[in-house]
Amino acid sequence: MNGTLLQAEGIGMRFGGFQALSGVDFDVKENSVACIIGPNGAGKSTFLNIITGTLTPTAGTVRFAGQAIAGLAPHRIARLGIARKFQIPSVFPSMTVAENVEVALWGGRSPAGIDEMLEIIGLSRRRLDLAGDLAHGEKQWLEIGMAIATGPKLLLLDEPTAGMTPEETRATAELIHRLSNRCTVVAVEHDINFVRALDTDTLVLHQGQFFRRAPFVEIEADEAVRDVYLGR
Ligand code: ADP
Ligand code: MG
Repeated sequence: MNGTLLQAEGIGMRFGGFQALSGVDFDVKENSVACIIGPNGAGKSTFLNIITGTLTPTAGTVRFAGQAIAGLAPHRIARLGIARKFQIPSVFPSMTVAENVEVALWGGRSPAGIDEMLEIIGLSRRRLDLAGDLAHGEKQWLEIGMAIATGPKLLLLDEPTAGMTPEETRATAELIHRLSNRCTVVAVEHDINFVRALDTDTLVLHQGQFFRRAPFVEIEADEAVRDVYLGR
């Protein structure tokens, strides 16, 4: 059971006269972790917006678990099993950590319980604390836990380590790998330290186009990628 879960082909996105994406191909296998990197403005968030249905691509197809999804309403795509965490954490600040997870579990179809979810996101010891009192990194983990609690097949993360300390960034990479035995994760990221810690299959976007796809060790060693992405 390690088939292709997500397959995007020839994705193009035009905003008026501006071509934000063109000819982007990207596929992800079940229970894998993939990363999309590229400089600011490369089209990473636009690509996620297309997968979640926030945007309808002007070219190309997206298949999820075999079904064509490009252009479906976001709530329908979510119901098929695609969850997304945005850059800004949105937890219920006046509820406890455990209550936040409990609320997320209500609406979902995850067989996991609250304790198990808290264990996965590393917040067992914080369960009775108010979510509003968590550190920035902990809030992000709680939000990842809430997204996972809905039982998605695919979790999309847009710059999940924005604003995190180096230690939190490393812990987030570990958390994502722990998640991969229950769902597929695609992380879009700008912070090279996180991508290095994640050390996984990586797609490089440059000016809205496919640039290279390879394991991160190869990406990092690639002179051409360094020129466009790392600016060296
Ligand atoms: P990234 O996430 O890689 O930083 P984005 O996907 O946010 O890049 O943006 C890619 C390009 O598309 C940028 O030049 C951005 O200004 C442009 N863009 C994104 N969304 C819109 C929109 N709704 N209308 C017009 N231009 C947009
Ligand atoms: Mg972005």
